[in-house]
Amino acid sequence: MRVTDASTVSSTWTAPLAPPNSMPDSADVVIIGGGIVGVSTAWFLAKQGVSVVLCEKGHVAGEQSGRNWGWVRVQGRDTREIPMMLDSLRIWDGLRDETGEDVGFARSGCFFTARSGEEMAAFEKWLVTAAEYGIESRLLSTQELDEHVTGCAVPLAGALYTESDGRAEPQKAAPAIARAAERAGATILTACAVRGVETTAGAVSAVVTEHGVIRTATVLCAAGAWSACFLRSLGVKVPQLKVRGTVARTAACDSVLEGNVFDELIGIRRRDDGGYTVAHGSILQHGITPSTLRWSIKFIPALLQEFKTLSISIGKDFFEELRAPKTWALDEETVFEQTRVLNPEPSRRVLRGIRANLDMMFPQLRNVPIVEAWAGMVETTPDVVPMIGPVDGLPGMQIATGFSGHGFGLGPGAGKAIAGLLTGTDTGVDLHPLRLGRFFDGSRIRPQSTV
Ligand SMILES: Cc1cc2nc3c(=O)[nH]c(=O)nc-3n(C[C@H](O)[C@H](O)[C@H](O)COP(=O)(O)OP(=O)(O)OC[C@H]3O[C@@H](n4cnc5c(N)ncnc54)[C@H](O)[C@@H]3O)c2cc1C
Repeated sequence: MRVTDASTVSSTWTAPLAPPNSMPDSADVVIIGGGIVGVSTAWFLAKQGVSVVLCEKGHVAGEQSGRNWGWVRVQGRDTREIPMMLDSLRIWDGLRDETGEDVGFARSGCFFTARSGEEMAAFEKWLVTAAEYGIESRLLSTQELDEHVTGCAVPLAGALYTESDGRAEPQKAAPAIARAAERAGATILTACAVRGVETTAGAVSAVVTEHGVIRTATVLCAAGAWSACFLRSLGVKVPQLKVRGTVARTAACDSVLEGNVFDELIGIRRRDDGGYTVAHGSILQHGITPSTLRWSIKFIPALLQEFKTLSISIGKDFFEELRAPKTWALDEETVFEQTRVLNPEPSRRVLRGIRANLDMMFPQLRNVPIVEAWAGMVETTPDVVPMIGPVDGLPGMQIATGFSGHGFGLGPGAGKAIAGLLTGTDTGVDLHPLRLGRFFDGSRIRPQSTV
Protein backbone atom coordinates (compact mmCIF):
# COMPACT_ATOMS: atom_id res chain seq x y z
CA MET A 1 0.00 0.00 0.00
CA ARG A 2 1.47 3.39 -0.96
CA VAL A 3 -0.37 5.52 1.57
CA THR A 4 -0.41 4.23 5.09
CA ASP A 5 -3.50 2.80 6.71
CA ALA A 6 -4.70 5.57 9.02
CA SER A 7 -5.48 3.04 11.72
CA THR A 8 -1.81 2.22 12.27
CA VAL A 9 -1.34 4.77 15.05
CA SER A 10 1.32 4.32 17.67
CA SER A 11 0.61 1.89 20.49
CA THR A 12 1.92 4.61 22.86
CA TRP A 13 -1.43 6.33 22.57
CA THR A 14 -3.61 3.27 22.88
CA ALA A 15 -1.74 1.46 25.68
CA PRO A 16 -3.81 0.68 28.79
CA LEU A 17 -3.77 3.46 31.36
CA ALA A 18 -2.57 2.94 34.90
CA PRO A 19 -4.55 5.01 37.42
CA PRO A 20 -2.66 6.14 40.55
CA ASN A 21 -2.25 3.62 43.40
CA SER A 22 -2.48 6.37 45.98
CA MET A 23 -3.13 10.10 46.01
CA PRO A 24 -1.06 12.75 47.79
CA ASP A 25 -3.04 15.04 50.14
CA SER A 26 -1.09 18.19 49.35
CA ALA A 27 1.79 19.69 47.38
CA ASP A 28 3.54 23.03 47.00
CA VAL A 29 2.74 22.99 43.28
CA VAL A 30 0.26 20.94 41.25
CA ILE A 31 0.83 20.82 37.48
CA ILE A 32 -2.04 20.01 35.13
CA GLY A 33 -0.72 18.25 32.02
CA GLY A 34 2.01 15.71 31.32
CA GLY A 35 3.32 17.17 28.07
CA ILE A 36 6.91 18.28 27.70
CA VAL A 37 6.17 21.62 29.38
CA GLY A 38 4.52 20.07 32.43
CA VAL A 39 7.09 17.32 32.97
CA SER A 40 10.04 19.69 32.43
CA THR A 41 8.61 22.13 34.98
CA ALA A 42 8.05 19.26 37.44
CA TRP A 43 11.65 18.14 36.91
CA PHE A 44 13.18 21.56 37.55
CA LEU A 45 10.92 22.17 40.57
CA ALA A 46 11.74 18.77 42.09
CA LYS A 47 15.46 19.38 41.57
CA GLN A 48 15.02 22.53 43.69
CA GLY A 49 13.36 20.52 46.45
CA VAL A 50 9.83 21.79 45.75
CA SER A 51 7.08 19.25 46.46
CA VAL A 52 5.31 18.89 43.12
CA VAL A 53 2.49 16.67 41.85
CA LEU A 54 1.74 16.42 38.14
CA CYS A 55 -1.69 15.20 37.02
CA GLU A 56 -2.08 13.89 33.49
CA LYS A 57 -5.51 12.74 32.31
CA GLY A 58 -4.03 10.20 29.86
CA HIS A 59 -0.44 9.21 29.09
CA VAL A 60 2.65 11.36 29.49
CA ALA A 61 3.30 12.78 25.98
CA GLY A 62 0.00 11.31 24.77
CA GLU A 63 -0.94 14.52 22.95
CA GLN A 64 1.18 17.17 21.17
CA SER A 65 4.44 16.32 22.93
CA GLY A 66 4.48 12.78 21.54
CA ARG A 67 3.05 13.61 18.10
CA ASN A 68 5.21 16.43 16.83
CA TRP A 69 7.85 16.54 14.11
CA GLY A 70 10.73 16.43 16.61
CA TRP A 71 12.43 19.63 15.52
CA VAL A 72 14.50 21.41 18.16
CA ARG A 73 15.31 24.72 16.55
CA VAL A 74 16.02 28.33 17.34
CA GLN A 75 16.13 29.26 13.64
CA GLY A 76 13.34 31.66 12.72
CA ARG A 77 11.96 32.15 16.22
CA ASP A 78 10.28 35.21 17.62
CA THR A 79 12.81 37.21 19.65
CA ARG A 80 10.64 36.80 22.77
CA GLU A 81 11.46 33.08 22.73
CA ILE A 82 15.14 33.14 21.74
CA PRO A 83 16.85 33.35 25.18
CA MET A 84 14.62 30.54 26.51
CA MET A 85 15.26 28.47 23.38
CA LEU A 86 19.04 28.89 23.59
CA ASP A 87 18.84 27.70 27.20
CA SER A 88 16.63 24.83 26.04
CA LEU A 89 19.23 23.71 23.50
CA ARG A 90 21.83 23.58 26.29
CA ILE A 91 19.46 21.45 28.39
CA TRP A 92 18.84 19.12 25.43
CA ASP A 93 22.64 18.70 25.14
CA GLY A 94 22.82 17.35 28.69
CA LEU A 95 19.56 15.38 28.69
CA ARG A 96 21.10 12.00 27.98
CA ASP A 97 23.49 12.33 30.94
CA GLU A 98 20.94 13.90 33.25
CA THR A 99 18.09 11.48 32.57
CA GLY A 100 20.20 8.42 31.79
CA GLU A 101 18.10 7.89 28.64
CA ASP A 102 18.82 8.47 24.97
CA VAL A 103 16.02 10.68 23.64
CA GLY A 104 17.55 10.87 20.17
CA PHE A 105 18.84 14.42 20.51
CA ALA A 106 21.37 15.38 17.87
CA ARG A 107 22.52 18.80 16.71
CA SER A 108 22.13 17.84 13.09
CA GLY A 109 21.10 21.22 11.71
CA CYS A 110 17.98 22.94 10.46
CA PHE A 111 17.37 24.03 6.87
CA PHE A 112 14.61 26.25 5.46
CA THR A 113 14.75 26.00 1.67
CA ALA A 114 14.22 28.83 -0.81
CA ARG A 115 12.90 28.51 -4.37
CA SER A 116 14.01 31.93 -5.58
CA GLY A 117 16.52 34.71 -5.00
CA GLU A 118 13.70 36.71 -3.43
CA GLU A 119 13.07 34.02 -0.86
CA MET A 120 16.79 33.85 -0.13
CA ALA A 121 16.86 37.61 0.37
CA ALA A 122 13.96 37.37 2.84
CA PHE A 123 16.11 35.12 5.05
CA GLU A 124 18.60 37.93 5.56
CA LYS A 125 16.31 39.53 8.13
CA TRP A 126 16.79 36.46 10.32
CA LEU A 127 20.57 36.65 9.91
CA VAL A 128 20.50 40.10 11.57
CA THR A 129 18.48 38.73 14.50
CA ALA A 130 20.67 35.64 14.74
CA ALA A 131 23.83 37.75 14.89
CA GLU A 132 22.37 39.79 17.78
CA TYR A 133 21.95 36.58 19.79
CA GLY A 134 25.22 34.92 18.72
CA ILE A 135 23.39 32.27 16.67
CA GLU A 136 25.48 31.05 13.75
CA SER A 137 22.88 30.88 11.01
CA ARG A 138 23.98 31.28 7.42
CA LEU A 139 22.73 31.11 3.85
CA LEU A 140 23.70 28.09 1.77
CA SER A 141 23.99 28.14 -2.00
CA THR A 142 22.47 25.26 -3.98
CA GLN A 143 25.90 23.62 -4.20
CA GLU A 144 26.48 23.98 -0.44
CA LEU A 145 23.02 22.59 0.27
CA ASP A 146 23.85 19.55 -1.89
CA GLU A 147 26.54 18.65 0.64
CA HIS A 148 23.81 18.12 3.27
CA VAL A 149 20.83 16.96 1.19
CA THR A 150 21.31 14.09 -1.27
CA GLY A 151 19.34 13.62 -4.45
CA CYS A 152 16.83 16.44 -4.11
CA ALA A 153 14.98 16.53 -7.44
CA VAL A 154 13.27 19.91 -7.12
CA PRO A 155 15.18 23.04 -8.11
CA LEU A 156 16.15 25.02 -5.00
CA ALA A 157 17.84 28.41 -4.84
CA GLY A 158 19.52 27.57 -1.53
CA ALA A 159 18.58 27.50 2.13
CA LEU A 160 18.79 29.19 5.49
CA TYR A 161 20.85 26.95 7.74
CA THR A 162 21.57 26.78 11.45
CA GLU A 163 24.09 24.05 12.17
CA SER A 164 23.58 24.15 15.96
CA ASP A 165 19.85 23.32 15.75
CA GLY A 166 18.76 19.77 16.35
CA ARG A 167 16.19 17.06 16.54
CA ALA A 168 14.93 14.58 19.13
CA GLU A 169 12.39 11.76 19.45
CA PRO A 170 9.02 13.05 20.70
CA GLN A 171 7.87 9.68 22.05
CA LYS A 172 11.00 9.34 24.15
CA ALA A 173 11.75 12.84 25.42
CA ALA A 174 8.86 13.78 27.74
CA PRO A 175 8.57 10.26 29.26
CA ALA A 176 12.33 10.30 30.01
CA ILE A 177 12.03 13.74 31.64
CA ALA A 178 8.99 12.55 33.63
CA ARG A 179 11.00 9.60 34.97
CA ALA A 180 13.87 11.94 35.87
CA ALA A 181 11.37 14.20 37.66
CA GLU A 182 10.08 11.20 39.65
CA ARG A 183 13.61 10.27 40.65
CA ALA A 184 14.14 13.85 41.79
CA GLY A 185 11.05 13.57 44.03
CA ALA A 186 8.10 14.66 41.87
CA THR A 187 4.88 12.65 41.87
CA ILE A 188 3.61 11.96 38.35
CA LEU A 189 0.01 10.72 38.20
CA THR A 190 -1.36 9.41 34.91
CA ALA A 191 -5.03 8.62 34.24
CA CYS A 192 -5.72 11.44 36.67
CA ALA A 193 -7.82 14.24 35.18
CA VAL A 194 -8.08 17.53 37.01
CA ARG A 195 -11.71 18.64 37.00
CA GLY A 196 -11.34 22.04 38.60
CA VAL A 197 -9.99 23.97 41.56
CA GLU A 198 -11.19 25.02 44.98
CA THR A 199 -10.57 28.54 46.20
CA THR A 200 -10.29 30.11 49.63
CA ALA A 201 -10.76 33.88 49.92
CA GLY A 202 -10.55 34.09 46.13
CA ALA A 203 -7.18 32.29 45.86
CA VAL A 204 -6.52 28.75 44.67
CA SER A 205 -6.41 26.33 47.61
CA ALA A 206 -6.79 22.88 46.01
CA VAL A 207 -7.23 20.99 42.77
CA VAL A 208 -10.09 18.56 42.41
CA THR A 209 -9.10 15.46 40.44
CA GLU A 210 -11.18 12.46 39.45
CA HIS A 211 -9.41 10.55 42.23
CA GLY A 212 -9.66 13.14 45.01
CA VAL A 213 -8.57 16.56 46.20
CA ILE A 214 -4.96 17.77 46.45
CA ARG A 215 -4.43 20.85 48.61
CA THR A 216 -2.08 23.41 47.08
CA ALA A 217 -1.62 27.16 46.81
CA THR A 218 -0.05 27.03 43.33
CA VAL A 219 -1.46 25.39 40.21
CA LEU A 220 0.22 25.45 36.80
CA CYS A 221 -2.14 24.88 33.90
CA ALA A 222 0.05 23.24 31.23
CA ALA A 223 -2.88 21.49 29.63
CA GLY A 224 -1.99 22.13 25.98
CA ALA A 225 -5.02 22.09 23.70
CA TRP A 226 -7.32 21.88 26.77
CA SER A 227 -6.08 24.93 28.62
CA ALA A 228 -8.70 27.33 27.26
CA CYS A 229 -11.51 24.90 28.04
CA PHE A 230 -10.22 24.22 31.56
CA LEU A 231 -9.66 27.86 32.43
CA ARG A 232 -12.93 28.98 30.86
CA SER A 233 -14.72 26.83 33.42
CA LEU A 234 -13.05 29.04 36.06
CA GLY A 235 -14.10 32.25 34.31
CA VAL A 236 -10.66 32.90 32.76
CA LYS A 237 -10.40 33.92 29.09
CA VAL A 238 -7.60 32.29 27.07
CA PRO A 239 -7.35 33.13 23.35
CA GLN A 240 -6.46 29.76 21.86
CA LEU A 241 -7.36 28.02 18.60
CA LYS A 242 -6.46 24.57 17.31
CA VAL A 243 -5.12 23.32 13.99
CA ARG A 244 -4.74 19.70 12.97
CA GLY A 245 -1.36 18.54 11.74
CA THR A 246 -1.05 15.18 9.95
CA VAL A 247 2.29 13.40 10.20
CA ALA A 248 3.77 10.25 8.63
CA ARG A 249 6.73 8.01 9.35
CA THR A 250 8.69 6.07 6.77
CA ALA A 251 10.42 2.75 7.22
CA ALA A 252 14.20 2.85 7.75
CA CYS A 253 15.98 3.82 4.53
CA ASP A 254 19.19 5.20 3.08
CA SER A 255 20.01 8.69 4.29
CA VAL A 256 19.02 11.67 2.16
CA LEU A 257 19.65 14.15 4.97
CA GLU A 258 20.54 13.96 8.67
CA GLY A 259 18.84 17.07 10.07
CA ASN A 260 15.51 18.83 9.52
CA VAL A 261 14.50 20.36 6.19
CA PHE A 262 11.47 22.56 5.69
CA ASP A 263 10.30 23.15 2.14
CA GLU A 264 6.95 24.15 0.65
CA LEU A 265 6.51 20.48 -0.32
CA ILE A 266 7.46 18.74 2.93
CA GLY A 267 8.86 19.11 6.42
CA ILE A 268 11.22 16.17 6.92
CA ARG A 269 13.39 14.97 9.81
CA ARG A 270 15.77 12.07 10.16
CA ARG A 271 14.66 9.71 12.97
CA ASP A 272 16.91 7.71 15.23
CA ASP A 273 15.32 4.48 13.90
CA GLY A 274 16.75 5.29 10.45
CA GLY A 275 13.46 6.45 8.92
CA TYR A 276 12.01 9.91 8.37
CA THR A 277 9.19 11.83 10.02
CA VAL A 278 7.46 13.66 7.18
CA ALA A 279 4.67 16.22 7.05
CA HIS A 280 3.12 18.35 4.34
CA GLY A 281 4.99 21.61 3.83
CA SER A 282 1.95 23.73 3.16
CA ILE A 283 -1.22 22.29 4.71
CA LEU A 284 -2.44 22.80 8.26
CA GLN A 285 -6.14 22.17 8.84
CA HIS A 286 -8.40 24.34 10.95
CA GLY A 287 -11.99 23.34 11.57
CA ILE A 288 -13.95 26.49 12.44
CA THR A 289 -15.43 26.37 15.94
CA PRO A 290 -17.32 28.83 18.12
CA SER A 291 -13.85 29.76 19.52
CA THR A 292 -12.76 30.81 16.02
CA LEU A 293 -15.64 33.28 15.93
CA ARG A 294 -15.06 34.37 19.52
CA TRP A 295 -11.37 35.15 18.97
CA SER A 296 -11.40 36.03 15.26
CA ILE A 297 -10.39 39.70 15.69
CA LYS A 298 -7.37 38.86 17.83
CA PHE A 299 -6.28 36.11 15.44
CA ILE A 300 -6.50 38.14 12.20
CA PRO A 301 -2.73 38.92 12.02
CA ALA A 302 -1.85 35.25 12.62
CA LEU A 303 -4.46 34.08 10.10
CA LEU A 304 -3.05 36.46 7.48
CA GLN A 305 0.49 35.22 8.14
CA GLU A 306 -0.51 31.55 7.90
CA PHE A 307 -3.17 32.07 5.22
CA LYS A 308 -1.28 30.20 2.48
CA THR A 309 -0.91 27.05 4.58
CA LEU A 310 -4.26 27.01 6.37
CA SER A 311 -7.00 24.80 5.00
CA ILE A 312 -10.17 26.03 6.69
CA SER A 313 -13.42 24.09 6.88
CA ILE A 314 -16.58 24.00 8.93
CA GLY A 315 -18.16 20.78 10.13
CA LYS A 316 -18.27 18.49 13.11
CA ASP A 317 -15.63 20.41 15.14
CA PHE A 318 -18.01 23.38 15.23
CA PHE A 319 -20.95 21.43 16.59
CA GLU A 320 -18.84 19.36 19.00
CA GLU A 321 -17.47 22.49 20.64
CA LEU A 322 -20.89 24.15 20.58
CA ARG A 323 -22.43 21.19 22.42
CA ALA A 324 -19.55 20.72 24.88
CA PRO A 325 -20.27 21.84 28.44
CA LYS A 326 -18.61 25.10 29.53
CA THR A 327 -18.82 24.40 33.25
CA TRP A 328 -19.42 21.19 35.18
CA ALA A 329 -19.89 19.68 38.61
CA LEU A 330 -16.60 18.58 40.18
CA ASP A 331 -18.06 15.34 41.55
CA GLU A 332 -19.05 14.00 38.13
CA GLU A 333 -17.14 12.74 35.11
CA THR A 334 -15.90 15.61 32.91
CA VAL A 335 -14.75 16.11 29.33
CA PHE A 336 -11.19 15.41 30.47
CA GLU A 337 -12.02 11.82 31.43
CA GLN A 338 -14.23 11.38 28.37
CA THR A 339 -11.29 12.20 26.07
CA ARG A 340 -8.28 10.73 27.83
CA VAL A 341 -6.11 11.17 24.77
CA LEU A 342 -6.94 13.65 22.02
CA ASN A 343 -6.27 11.44 19.02
CA PRO A 344 -7.49 13.15 15.84
CA GLU A 345 -7.68 11.19 12.61
CA PRO A 346 -4.83 11.85 10.20
CA SER A 347 -6.17 13.38 6.98
CA ARG A 348 -6.06 10.97 4.03
CA ARG A 349 -5.89 13.91 1.62
CA VAL A 350 -2.86 15.29 3.42
CA LEU A 351 -1.25 11.83 3.58
CA ARG A 352 -1.63 11.48 -0.17
CA GLY A 353 0.00 14.89 -0.54
CA ILE A 354 2.86 13.89 1.77
CA ARG A 355 3.52 10.76 -0.27
CA ALA A 356 3.41 12.61 -3.60
CA ASN A 357 5.59 15.47 -2.38
CA LEU A 358 8.14 13.15 -0.77
CA ASP A 359 8.43 11.20 -4.03
CA MET A 360 8.74 14.43 -6.01
CA MET A 361 11.48 15.79 -3.79
CA PHE A 362 13.37 12.54 -3.21
CA PRO A 363 12.57 10.06 -6.01
CA GLN A 364 15.04 7.59 -4.48
CA LEU A 365 12.58 7.16 -1.54
CA ARG A 366 9.71 6.16 -3.84
CA ASN A 367 9.76 2.55 -2.72
CA VAL A 368 10.24 3.29 0.96
CA PRO A 369 6.89 2.62 2.62
CA ILE A 370 5.09 4.96 5.00
CA VAL A 371 4.54 2.68 7.96
CA GLU A 372 2.67 4.90 10.39
CA ALA A 373 0.51 8.01 10.34
CA TRP A 374 -1.03 10.16 13.04
CA ALA A 375 -2.35 13.62 13.70
CA GLY A 376 -2.00 16.11 16.50
CA MET A 377 -3.90 19.21 17.53
CA VAL A 378 -1.56 22.19 17.58
CA GLU A 379 -2.85 24.90 19.91
CA THR A 380 -1.93 28.41 19.00
CA THR A 381 -2.18 31.97 20.28
CA PRO A 382 -2.89 35.17 18.32
CA ASP A 383 0.84 36.07 18.13
CA VAL A 384 2.04 32.48 17.79
CA VAL A 385 4.14 32.46 20.97
CA PRO A 386 3.15 30.91 24.32
CA MET A 387 1.33 32.39 27.29
CA ILE A 388 3.35 31.93 30.46
CA GLY A 389 2.79 33.46 33.88
CA PRO A 390 0.16 34.26 36.48
CA VAL A 391 -3.53 34.37 35.68
CA ASP A 392 -4.80 37.83 36.66
CA GLY A 393 -7.78 37.71 39.00
CA LEU A 394 -7.16 34.17 40.24
CA PRO A 395 -4.25 34.22 42.71
CA GLY A 396 -2.27 30.98 42.75
CA MET A 397 -3.18 30.02 39.17
CA GLN A 398 -0.35 30.07 36.63
CA ILE A 399 -0.51 29.24 32.94
CA ALA A 400 2.01 27.78 30.47
CA THR A 401 0.28 27.03 27.22
CA GLY A 402 -0.13 28.13 23.60
CA PHE A 403 3.25 26.90 22.40
CA SER A 404 1.91 27.35 18.87
CA GLY A 405 3.54 24.47 17.03
CA HIS A 406 7.05 24.90 18.40
CA GLY A 407 6.93 23.99 22.08
CA PHE A 408 8.71 20.65 21.84
CA GLY A 409 12.13 22.19 21.34
CA LEU A 410 11.31 24.93 23.81
CA GLY A 411 9.88 22.56 26.45
CA PRO A 412 12.94 21.93 28.65
CA GLY A 413 13.93 25.61 28.59
CA ALA A 414 10.35 26.63 29.35
CA GLY A 415 10.25 24.17 32.25
CA LYS A 416 13.38 25.71 33.75
CA ALA A 417 12.10 29.27 33.29
CA ILE A 418 8.66 28.45 34.72
CA ALA A 419 10.21 26.67 37.73
CA GLY A 420 12.26 29.83 38.27
CA LEU A 421 9.11 31.94 38.07
CA LEU A 422 7.32 29.77 40.63
CA THR A 423 10.24 29.72 43.08
CA GLY A 424 11.33 33.32 42.56
CA THR A 425 14.69 32.20 41.12
CA ASP A 426 16.28 34.31 38.40
CA THR A 427 16.91 32.07 35.36
CA GLY A 428 17.94 34.98 33.14
CA VAL A 429 14.83 34.53 30.99
CA ASP A 430 12.29 37.36 30.93
CA LEU A 431 8.80 35.87 30.84
CA HIS A 432 6.96 39.19 31.10
CA PRO A 433 6.54 39.57 27.28
CA LEU A 434 4.78 36.17 27.29
CA ARG A 435 2.22 36.96 30.01
CA LEU A 436 -1.43 36.07 29.29
CA GLY A 437 -2.43 39.67 30.05
CA ARG A 438 -0.76 40.94 26.86
CA PHE A 439 -3.90 39.99 24.96
CA PHE A 440 -6.12 42.15 27.14
CA ASP A 441 -4.05 45.17 28.20
CA GLY A 442 -3.93 47.03 24.88
CA SER A 443 -0.52 45.66 23.83
CA ARG A 444 0.06 45.49 20.07
CA ILE A 445 -0.31 41.80 19.26
CA ARG A 446 1.11 40.36 16.07
CA PRO A 447 3.36 37.43 15.11
CA GLN A 448 7.00 38.57 15.14
CA SER A 449 8.82 35.61 13.62
CA THR A 450 11.44 36.95 11.23
CA VAL A 451 11.32 34.12 8.71
C1 LIG B 1 1.83 17.78 14.32
C2 LIG B 1 2.67 18.62 15.23
C3 LIG B 1 3.98 18.96 14.88
C4 LIG B 1 4.76 19.72 15.73
N1 LIG B 1 6.09 19.89 15.46
C5 LIG B 1 6.91 20.49 16.36
C6 LIG B 1 8.31 20.52 16.17
O1 LIG B 1 8.85 19.95 15.23
N2 LIG B 1 9.07 21.19 17.09
C7 LIG B 1 8.51 21.82 18.16
O2 LIG B 1 9.26 22.45 18.91
N3 LIG B 1 7.17 21.73 18.40
C8 LIG B 1 6.37 21.07 17.54
N4 LIG B 1 5.02 20.97 17.78
C9 LIG B 1 4.46 21.64 18.94
C10 LIG B 1 4.74 20.88 20.22
O3 LIG B 1 4.44 19.52 20.08
C11 LIG B 1 3.92 21.50 21.34
O4 LIG B 1 4.08 22.92 21.34
C12 LIG B 1 4.34 20.98 22.70
O5 LIG B 1 4.39 19.58 22.69
C13 LIG B 1 3.36 21.47 23.75
O6 LIG B 1 3.64 20.80 24.95
P1 LIG B 1 2.66 20.97 26.17
O7 LIG B 1 3.27 20.26 27.31
O8 LIG B 1 2.36 22.43 26.34
O9 LIG B 1 1.27 20.34 25.70
P2 LIG B 1 0.81 18.84 25.41
O10 LIG B 1 1.92 17.99 24.93
O11 LIG B 1 -0.39 18.94 24.54
O12 LIG B 1 0.41 18.31 26.83
C14 LIG B 1 -0.73 18.77 27.53
C15 LIG B 1 -1.24 17.61 28.36
O13 LIG B 1 -2.23 18.08 29.27
C16 LIG B 1 -3.12 17.02 29.50
N5 LIG B 1 -4.35 17.56 30.08
C17 LIG B 1 -5.20 18.44 29.50
N6 LIG B 1 -6.21 18.74 30.33
C18 LIG B 1 -5.99 18.04 31.47
C19 LIG B 1 -6.71 17.92 32.70
N7 LIG B 1 -7.83 18.63 32.94
N8 LIG B 1 -6.21 17.10 33.64
C20 LIG B 1 -5.07 16.41 33.44
N9 LIG B 1 -4.37 16.47 32.27
C21 LIG B 1 -4.82 17.29 31.31
C22 LIG B 1 -3.30 16.40 28.12
O14 LIG B 1 -3.78 15.08 28.19
C23 LIG B 1 -1.88 16.51 27.53
O15 LIG B 1 -1.15 15.32 27.67
C24 LIG B 1 4.20 20.22 16.94
C25 LIG B 1 2.89 19.89 17.30
C26 LIG B 1 2.14 19.07 16.47
C27 LIG B 1 0.75 18.66 16.92
